[in-house]
Amino acid sequence: MGQGGVGKRLVAVELAKILNCTTNDFTKTDIGACGRCVSCEKVAKNIHPDLHFIDFAKQAELEDEDLEKQKILKIETIRYMQKEVATKIREGKWKVFIIEPAEKMNLTVANSLLKTLEEPPENTVIILIAKHKETIPKTIVSRSQTLFFQPLGQNEMSTWLMLNHSLVPVKAQEIAELSEGSLENAVKLVNEEESEGLSTWRKLKTQKFYISDLLELSKNAARRGALKCVDSMIAEAKKEFRIYPQGAALALDFLNASRAKLLQNVNAQTVLDNLFFDLYDLSNK
Ligand SMILES: [Zn+2]
Repeated sequence: MGQGGVGKRLVAVELAKILNCTTNDFTKTDIGACGRCVSCEKVAKNIHPDLHFIDFAKQAELEDEDLEKQKILKIETIRYMQKEVATKIREGKWKVFIIEPAEKMNLTVANSLLKTLEEPPENTVIILIAKHKETIPKTIVSRSQTLFFQPLGQNEMSTWLMLNHSLVPVKAQEIAELSEGSLENAVKLVNEEESEGLSTWRKLKTQKFYISDLLELSKNAARRGALKCVDSMIAEAKKEFRIYPQGAALALDFLNASRAKLLQNVNAQTVLDNLFFDLYDLSNK
């Protein structure tokens, strides 16, 4: 139980690894999965024949429907799972079923699942992933062991954002604060900002502008927040720098200088106007 993006699915998958790892035997040692054996690798790649995801993606595949159309887990999907539960283990030591989102089941479906939870075959683990305990029928909860997940700490989150999304520390901290401990929320926020920065960055690099258009672009960016715009463009420039250092180095210099000016409260519109002209010049030389 726990909100989105705090690692519930990750832990479930890790458990599947530990149970089936061929190098480390969890019944003999307290060391987790090795992460390198064939079994661990298959689990990581989601191709282990004894690991089953019972989720909207699977349901869409079974029903030959669009993923977006899946709103609740259907009885047919649970029946499919029950058939799999009844078959022999294919190559591992344990069969693992991960049901998500477990709160998206009506009572009929939940009751059908209950039968399986009451008498699971040996060496079978059924994991239900949900956001809140209250959304799962009591009969099911009473037959399960509950594990609660806490939101991620802000420091862990901002470090992760800096490493994985090339955010500047202030920006990473800001997003970490807004995302309430959920990596899912954080990534959503980053994507929103990145797409804005990315579109401005791409426009400046690829389109032909009249001065008036350039000023208009700058005016819009300033209205949405000059610092925000510069930060997301810095993230884009950094990504580009890794692939094409010569091209992005000068752009990064301009961006960082503009960022410093904004922090010194130089007029935001002036800073952006100059920056956009510089960047535009750079890619049109
Ligand atoms: Zn292993």
